[in-house]
Amino acid sequence: MEHNLMFNPLPTIGIVAPCYNEEEVLDYTASKLVEILESMITRGVVHPESFIGFIDDGSKDKTWSIIEVLHQKYPLIHGLKLAGNVGHQKALLAGLLTFRTDADCLISIDADLQDDITVIEKMVELFKAGNDVVYGARAERKTDTYFKRQTALFFYTLMRRMKVKLVYNHADYRLASRRVLDALEQYSEVNLFLRGIFPHIGYKSDIVYYDRLERFAGESKYPLRKMLSFAWDGITSFSVTPLRMVSS
Ligand code: UDP
Ligand code: MG
Repeated sequence: MEHNLMFNPLPTIGIVAPCYNEEEVLDYTASKLVEILESMITRGVVHPESFIGFIDDGSKDKTWSIIEVLHQKYPLIHGLKLAGNVGHQKALLAGLLTFRTDADCLISIDADLQDDITVIEKMVELFKAGNDVVYGARAERKTDTYFKRQTALFFYTLMRRMKVKLVYNHADYRLASRRVLDALEQYSEVNLFLRGIFPHIGYKSDIVYYDRLERFAGESKYPLRKMLSFAWDGITSFSVTPLRMVSS
């Protein structure tokens, strides 16, 4: 009996968010995430050692000093400071690989709370039910501009033709277990496209749907130029079709 009680401990979770020049959003984001995490801790959904990890991706504004103050105010908030701006994907990877040793699973999320944090608990439930990855996918694209919707559609069609495995309308809002994060370390992609790597790792997974909200403050750190180069990384990292095109 005693053994059984010890067998299924509460999971320690980490919520990690890359931050680049996010001084306008961090205080509010931190307070909302702390509220959700403390509620899950109090209700015995997750282990009391669960935490929030902010990754400062070489910000030029007050992002890092805000993270330091937040850590003083809420001990469950931790920070990781990168030496320079390496971009969203590399910053997130650094965060996932650094914080994974402190948790049973990590949930990655954007700092501007465009990803609906009320589904975090659903992700945790699906993790407890035996899923190693839980993908957050957008139920609709109402808040996007016509242009962004069309480019997204074009992108998914292209990726399908290239035979790249992707979860439709999923970006980087996801839960991943410790063993999946350990497997992530084996990928030495130069052009990092995380949403393509996770389906490749291949453990049991599920999807939660949510409505993506507007950024509540600050501006997008993803200008069109970065978006196109990111899509190109996705294609070139996972498909040999472009290679065949140039070599045939
Ligand atoms: N971000 C980052 N490094 C960068 C650009 C963005 O860490 O060089 C972070 C940013 O702070 C945010 C997330 O990546 O938490 C997504 O960026 P953003 O919200 O600007 O992109 P969008 O939602 O407009 O696509
Ligand atoms: Mg955003």
